[in-house]
Amino acid sequence: MSADAARRDELRELYRELILDHAKRPRHFGTLPNATHRARGINPLCGDRLDLQFRVDGSRIADAAFEGSGCAISLASASLLTDTVIGLEPSAAMRYFDALLGRLTGREAGGELPELGKLEALEGVREFPSRVKCATLAWHALDSALKNGQQTVTTE
Ligand code: ZN
Repeated sequence: MSADAARRDELRELYRELILDHAKRPRHFGTLPNATHRARGINPLCGDRLDLQFRVDGSRIADAAFEGSGCAISLASASLLTDTVIGLEPSAAMRYFDALLGRLTGREAGGELPELGKLEALEGVREFPSRVKCATLAWHALDSALKNGQQTVTTE
């Protein structure tokens, strides 16, 4: 095995563990008493159902939480999302969505995109279009919540 392949395997294993960790012990799981923005995400194909809530305070996302049930990928993605967007301006949070979508679907968003950081763990689903929906469900809900205040999004 080449050093590159070994490194890739190591990274894949690390990412797998990160996904499982977030799925088993989701961060910011629960409800937000004073949420200002909220959206539900439904992915009928897999059975993922997420309810995301955000508190936007001034120009920043002061807090985020989610509830729901679904596969490990959808839960880990929602957990990573809350970890990522708290403290960000909504527009900055959406740049992460652009960056993630670009990485998973090849759809290029223009402009400067942030480094994915931990979100790179979701990259493994790229080859599986049905799993891409699991990985992006929470992000579509975030998009909808920030744009419309309250909404249900579905992947179908
Ligand atoms: Zn799923």
